[in-house]
Amino acid sequence: MKHTGIPVLAVRAASPAARAGIRPGMRILRLDGHETLDELDLLFVNHQTEISLDVLNEPGHLSIRIRKREETDLGITTEPIRCKPCGNACIFCFADQNAPGSRAALRFKDEDYRFSFLFGHYVTLSHITERELERIGRLRLHPLYLSIHTVEDDLRRRLMGIKRSVPIRRLLDRLVELDLRFHGQIVLVPGWNDGEHLIRSVRELMGYQPNLQSLAVIPVGLTRHRDGLIPIEPVSSEWAAGVIRDIDTQVPSIPPGWLACSDELFLKAGIPVPSSRYYGDYAQLENGVGMLRAMMDGGLRRRKFEGWQERAEGETGERYWFVTGTAAYPVLRSLIERWFRGRIPSYIKLIAIRNDHFGETVTVAGLVSGRDLIRQIGHEARNDRVFIPSVMLQSDQERFIDDVTVDTVTHATNASVFIIEPGIDSLYKVLRSCLRDRGHIFQQASDA
Ligand code: SF4
Repeated sequence: MKHTGIPVLAVRAASPAARAGIRPGMRILRLDGHETLDELDLLFVNHQTEISLDVLNEPGHLSIRIRKREETDLGITTEPIRCKPCGNACIFCFADQNAPGSRAALRFKDEDYRFSFLFGHYVTLSHITERELERIGRLRLHPLYLSIHTVEDDLRRRLMGIKRSVPIRRLLDRLVELDLRFHGQIVLVPGWNDGEHLIRSVRELMGYQPNLQSLAVIPVGLTRHRDGLIPIEPVSSEWAAGVIRDIDTQVPSIPPGWLACSDELFLKAGIPVPSSRYYGDYAQLENGVGMLRAMMDGGLRRRKFEGWQERAEGETGERYWFVTGTAAYPVLRSLIERWFRGRIPSYIKLIAIRNDHFGETVTVAGLVSGRDLIRQIGHEARNDRVFIPSVMLQSDQERFIDDVTVDTVTHATNASVFIIEPGIDSLYKVLRSCLRDRGHIFQQASDA
């Protein structure tokens, strides 16, 4: 027999649920009269002072009413939400562009509005049902992160590699009707949704403000593993510059901070990244939009290392290696130079790791592989300290994108490997502590 509802896996002793007679093994069918689909329903009612539950307690049903304080947790543990797979076949899907033999998790395509709400995953909502939309509205699962790509349905479906989808305007209108907030992205593919298609999309999407809180324009990411996939023209610097110019000149009424092109687009175009005003409240930082500007501004606020001087005879002993991707390298280098008044000590090494795993067009630190790191540092860092930003590691914090572990890097390089928080503040603090370890004294007022 097919059960509905969610299973009770554990009940905390003396909790409101335990006192009401709820036990592991039961199933919660309804909460406050609404069908229970997953943990989110439970989280949604958890702050309430009064909750009614319909519970399946084989072979019968129980109706339970719980009264509790607002801040008291119900005390029920259920299954964690499992991410649903995606039904699209986007021509640029990164999951299809992994190196052959990469682990299944990297090839998993997810498309789940709950993960969009919980973790900021981008979703197309191409097959979202009205029932799901109603639930999103009722539970206030927003802001959502929506891959829009274009407002033209035919073109959008071709980009997503599908024949049918919820029409994009109908979807956007419904999100507005439900008074939901969302952020959007356009993954821009040369020769597909660029040019007049992009301008049309941006103009039309402006009408969805303020619900559409920000819009990012991201160039398509291509790796060298595209065998058998639809050919896509690589992103050239002329094309990238053209995209930035077209948006600037053809949609001049964009409010500051609402639409931003990604850092990668500016880097590719060879155009300096704009001031912080362009990025507003940096709503799409995680999407690679505004990171370089945030890094620069954060670095410029830091005090220079006063009182430091490299000893005349040259420094010996342990060196400190800081690794990053090729995209962030020039900015980091110029900031470190500034902190050291133009001359970086010889024992501090900032290294940009070229991405041979995915191909050189992939430049972000988050996709640097362990093998590339080992190959490019080699034994140079022997007996030194190597600092790796945590973004280079998968969520378990132990493995790089190619499954190489931090331990493997340690053994292969004979260096002491340290994981550091990403961001300019973290880099600054680690540099300062390295200098202190070498006995340098600083006139360090405040670095706040
Ligand atoms: S929606 Fe995302 S995960 Fe799904 S195919 Fe497209 S790019 Fe891949």
